Amino acid sequence: MAETLNAYLSLGANLGNREETLREAVRRLAKHEDMKILAVSSLYETEPWGKTDQPRFLNLTVSLQTRLSPESLLAVVQALETELGRVRHEHWGPRIIDIDILHIEGVERNTSELTLPHPYMTERAFVLIPLEEIASKLVVKGRTVAEWRDAAGDEGIKRVAGWKY
Ligand code: AMP
Repeated sequence: MAETLNAYLSLGANLGNREETLREAVRRLAKHEDMKILAVSSLYETEPWGKTDQPRFLNLTVSLQTRLSPESLLAVVQALETELGRVRHEHWGPRIIDIDILHIEGVERNTSELTLPHPYMTERAFVLIPLEEIASKLVVKGRTVAEWRDAAGDEGIKRVAGWKY
């Protein structure tokens, strides 16, 4: 692929068949003709905290190469969120799948539709732990992902054994 960008995504789900929805999302990204998946992290489960009566989240990260623009990549992941939300459940639920663009190497954005790097990616352990697995040396906002992860800790985040996409 000529003229490609390296992008890092975070995928999360806390309703429905969370594992299957995430698996399907990764498969559909992998099938997209303008993208090449480079790595997929393990799956992690986040214990509910604060509001403890909600289902646990499952999270993973993906790195990919794409010839899409950042805005077109956002449109693709938003279409995928809509497709998977509608395919699997009668009622629309925004947390059936949530896909965020965490970072695109060499790209910054600060528009109403797209903020890059993603504003919370350097704080959230459920993003940083799976991201460290596939991109520990990636530098974002002046620190490596491993350094951000050390600062964020790992409380309540467990790797799900044996998951394969
Ligand atoms: P959410 O409801 O958390 O999925 O947020 C979706 C909204 O965030 C959309 O309106 C996007 O335009 C906006 N957004 C801004 N920056 C990003 C990003 N880096 N990745 C994904 N969505 C983004």
